[in-house]
This record gives sequence, C-alpha cells and structure tokens, in this order.
Amino acid sequence: MRDAYRREINYLRVSVTDKCNLRCLYCMPPEGVEFLPHDEILRAEEIEAVIRAATKVGIRKIRLTGGEPLVRKGINDLVRNISNIPGIDDITLTTNGLLLPSHAAALKKSGLKRVNISLDTLKSERYREITRIGDLACAWKGIQAALDAGLHPVKINTVVTRGINDDEVEAMAHLSLKRPLHIRFIEIMPIGDGNSWAEGRFVPAEEIMEKISRRIGRLHPVRSIEGDGPAKYYRFEGAEGTVGFITAMSNHFCGNCNRLRLTSSGGLRPCLYDSREIDLKTPLRRGAEERELIDLIMDAIDMKPDRHHMHEGWADRKRVMSQIGG
Ligand code: SAM
Ligand code: SF4
Repeated sequence: MRDAYRREINYLRVSVTDKCNLRCLYCMPPEGVEFLPHDEILRAEEIEAVIRAATKVGIRKIRLTGGEPLVRKGINDLVRNISNIPGIDDITLTTNGLLLPSHAAALKKSGLKRVNISLDTLKSERYREITRIGDLACAWKGIQAALDAGLHPVKINTVVTRGINDDEVEAMAHLSLKRPLHIRFIEIMPIGDGNSWAEGRFVPAEEIMEKISRRIGRLHPVRSIEGDGPAKYYRFEGAEGTVGFITAMSNHFCGNCNRLRLTSSGGLRPCLYDSREIDLKTPLRRGAEERELIDLIMDAIDMKPDRHHMHEGWADRKRVMSQIGG
C-alpha cells in the first residue's frame, strides 16, 4: 500500500523484546532501562497475527530486532512461523551477534535469510567500554557463525562516534577487503538516552568516506546488494565485501522510506522518530478480527510523516532505542 507521499510501504521492523545482554553507550543509560513486565510484551501468536494482517496491505519484508532479539525464548520457532506466512518473502534479523554461535544454523534452517551484526570496534577493551559488558571474542564467534551458516550477505553495523571509535574507520573498512563482510557506517542519531550522549559526537558519513578512500583506495559505487535499504554501498577494487553509509542525519532518506515499526509492547509506529503509536495489543487481546488489525495498520501507513525531524530533538521522553526497536 502507498502512503500519503506515494511511498510503497512493504517492510515491517518488529521488536521482539526490550531486553538486551549489552548496554551500549549510545543506546541505554548506564543504569540500564527498566524492562517491561513479561505480560506487556507481545506473545509470538500476537506478533504472527499482526504480520499476517500486514501482508494484506502489502508488507513483504520482516526484520526482527530489539533489544536483543536472540535473548527472546522461542525466537527460532517465531522465525519459522513468520517465514511460513504466505506473502512474506524476506525475513532478516539485527543482532549484537553474541548468541549467534548457538542460533545461526537453526535460524537459517527456519527460513532466516540474513543478519546484520553490530560491531563498533576491533579492540577488546574498547568493545567492553562501548557495550559496558560485552566480550569482543564472543562477537567475532557470532560473525563467524553467521558466515558459516550461509546467512549472506552478512552486514556489520558500525555506529561511528567522535572520540570513541572514529579512529577505527579505516580498520573497520579493511574488513571488507578479504572477507565477504559488508561494513555499514551509521551516523549516530540523538535518540532516547543517546540524545544527550550523542552531543558533540556526531561524525558525518562524508568524513568517513573521505578518510577511508584516501587511506585504502578508490570506492566504486555498487548498484545493489540484497536487502540494501537506506545504505549506499561501495566496493574497494578487488574487495570481497563492501562498505556502506547510513546517513540518517546528514542526508535523510525519508523520501524512499518503506517501513513501519512494531514495538515489543505492540505499538505500531509510523516512523522511528515520531512518538505517535497505534496500540495493537489492546485489540489483539480482546480478540479483534483481522479486518480491524488491517484498518489500524492502514491508519499507521496514512500517518507516516513526509520526513523525520531529528534535528529538532527527541520528543519521546518515554522510550529509548532498545525499547522501540532499532
Ligand atoms: N541489539 C541488536 C543490535 O545491537 O544489533 C538490535 C537492536 S539495536 C537498537 C539496532 C541497531 O541500532 C544497532 O546496530 C545499533 O548500533 C543501532 N543504534 C542504537 N542506538 C543508536 C543511535 N543512538 N544512533 C544510531 N544507531 C543506533
Ligand atoms: Fe543492546 Fe543493541 Fe542497544 Fe547495544 S544497541 S544496548 S546490543 S539493543
């Protein structure tokens, strides 16, 4: 279905949990966030009912995220059930990778197509500082498990922050030379607790691009890689992988936005940066017919703003990124 700005909406990002096994600096406050009571979180059958209804208005692609989606019990069954829903032809997942060694092969078998894995640094101590609790060696095991399971293309999400990891963009870009990894440099967004933390730490993608092409070599534009979304991709001469840039701040891509977001507590959000949400949990729990869900999903599509207004600040004081679903 098209929205008011004639954009075709065919992609739903589903946050399956607000819980996480890390506490990244730009995502959560130091004390962590209070997790929602179990009963507030959509059950698997409820998520599946929303997705089934969403296919009736043209949703074809699903990305599971969180929080950390792999900490949710039954994630493998959920993936299998979603991939069996008629009309869904692409199901992917965004993860910090720590639990992939025990999940990757089974997820692939259940129908998962690809993964995006978050990795901001190649230095162990720094990984611990950024994630507050993580172990870099475990993240690498996760990346290897994704490659071994054939969850291609394996994309690496790297949020670049001034004074924290901006000295590593060259090393990160190097990863694309010898391995089939697609390194996506993400501009930090002032979201939730990241709002004040991000101040003064923004690094524009243009600066990263200039730095890596000066130090490594010319970047050749890549027409598309599977599931290319908002990133623009390039390849160094002879490289196995690519580097991509997600410029949500310096050059927003709202004109091509094709997505809705479902929060872990059942709020349907027309835009990450728009605090309006349509509550789907209440109708689901009183046994709403599919027709009612379809109407609510169409309302969310109609509500999509023409573009985000991130530069004006984060209006939603109630939520941080891990709660909405990044
Ligand atoms: N836990 C999973 C992970 O880290 O990949 C999935 C959820 S996480 C919220 C999704 C993505 O959002 C990650 O790649 C993370 O780096 C990114 N992210 C979180 N906070 C951000 C911020 N303030 N600005 C830009 N990206 C952010
Ligand atoms: Fe967890 Fe992902 Fe947020 Fe890091 S970015 S705290 S891994 S949800």
